[in-house]
Amino acid sequence: MAYNRCMTDSPRSGELDLAIIGGGAAGVLVAIQVLRQARAPLALALFEPASQLAQGIAYATPWPEHLLNVPAAKMSAFPDQPGDFLDYLLAIDAYPGEPREVLGERYASRHHFAAYLQQRLQDAVAASPARLQVLAQPVLGLQPDDHGYQLQLGGGHTRHAAQVVLATGNSMRPLPVSGADALPADDVIEAWDYDGVRTLAGAHALAIVGSGLSMADTVLALVAAGHTGPLHVISRHGLLPLPHAHGGLPDFDPATLLPMTLRQRMHALRGYARQAQADGLPWQGVMDRIRPHGQALWCSLDDADQRRFLRHVVRYWDVHRHRIAEQVHAQLQALQDSGQLHLHRARLQRVGREGARLWLSGREAAGGERQWTIGGVINATGVETRASALRNPLLQQLQADGLARPGPHGLGLDSTVPGDRLLSASGQPQARLGVLGSLRIGSLWESLAVPELRQQAQALATQMVAGAATAMP
Ligand SMILES: Cc1cc2nc3c(=O)[nH]c(=O)nc-3n(C[C@H](O)[C@H](O)[C@H](O)COP(=O)(O)OP(=O)(O)OC[C@H]3O[C@@H](n4cnc5c(N)ncnc54)[C@H](O)[C@@H]3O)c2cc1C
Repeated sequence: MAYNRCMTDSPRSGELDLAIIGGGAAGVLVAIQVLRQARAPLALALFEPASQLAQGIAYATPWPEHLLNVPAAKMSAFPDQPGDFLDYLLAIDAYPGEPREVLGERYASRHHFAAYLQQRLQDAVAASPARLQVLAQPVLGLQPDDHGYQLQLGGGHTRHAAQVVLATGNSMRPLPVSGADALPADDVIEAWDYDGVRTLAGAHALAIVGSGLSMADTVLALVAAGHTGPLHVISRHGLLPLPHAHGGLPDFDPATLLPMTLRQRMHALRGYARQAQADGLPWQGVMDRIRPHGQALWCSLDDADQRRFLRHVVRYWDVHRHRIAEQVHAQLQALQDSGQLHLHRARLQRVGREGARLWLSGREAAGGERQWTIGGVINATGVETRASALRNPLLQQLQADGLARPGPHGLGLDSTVPGDRLLSASGQPQARLGVLGSLRIGSLWESLAVPELRQQAQALATQMVAGAATAMP
């Protein structure tokens, strides 16, 4: 079913009680929560330039081979209704005949998740006294005043909102190779351009820069589109994501890790993994056991240990933490075994085109220069987390005007912990400006995925609804 905009998508004058900036999964989760919690006719607006809500980057793929990396049973939009995504999949008969217990373990196609959030948004609109406008345009700037924020829109338009939530999500990282800017647009495709990637399929060689989850998406899409040529996956560390595994969770108390230093924690985790394997359990269970404690684990590391983690551990952490479905891992393995997929540990140097020949050069970790002749480059380097490199004009304006400052270690934007208010350049919490999702990575580390987003959305909505009630005459 096509999704209908909830009310209007043209800018209208009128005071907003709440503006949510960004209509990816996070912004839509906040909107649903506000609609559900509102007891009065609040004026709520969701600003999202993309044609569809709730897709953002992760869930915009229409292709069935692009799977969630979290089992369906853990993808509910609501902290207090853990089976809700499963209920939705069963209601639409997404996987005919599959019993609930089996479906709960499934890594469902990602497009189902966007459709699910769209459905729950429509349900919430229908049942709420609050009114939602969906405005199909970006917010370019925010100016504070005594009553909230003036939102700057395109064409000199403005709207005023008493409270604002920043849900601008993931930013793309540019291709880390000199010469990329001078190439024709068709030579470099972003991994999140899900249709564009497929247009590169053929018998020629392709380079995929980055070896994480977006690389896995890219390889699956190319193979599904009939690509038969070599695939050169190039990354500085040459690490592929590891597979999920089924099995019980090892029995240890993650809270015992909190007082430990980074070194002690890593030692303890390796010990738990060895013990799990001795007990016939997969090592993955150790990561799953500590997964709900990710924010507490980050926040309890001191500044120096956080830095050590970012410098020495994060690459290895990521492949253990951000895993792929077993069948996807098996497919990557089979492509490596057949000689179609080549993994290169290399630092890229230049990319260029001479007539019909596109080439990429780099220095391999094993030593020596290497040049690849390719039919196209796919940028699968993932999410940009450095505040200074965020290319979103709104986020640049907020930093330039002192309404925001980089988060710890320069990652994302700084916010209150506990809490969810954006901190100004001078460290003042902004009572009317909340933030959730990946912008909070420096403060919380685990702040990207649905298990965290749904908690943050619920808490933010409660405060925003209470704030609107206080402000009402
Ligand atoms: C490829 C991929 C797969 C993933 N798979 C999973 C998964 O299986 N399970 C899971 O839990 N997590 C997954 N994640 C994590 C993912 O980040 C979150 O689940 C979720 O998609 C994040 O949603 P978001 O709304 O915070 O960000 P985004 O999806 O990036 O959405 C942000 C939205 O804000 C809009 N926006 C930005 N700036 C402005 C502006 N100035 N004005 C108005 N609108 C603006 C953008 O257009 C965009 O639609 C995945 C991430 C990626 C990249």
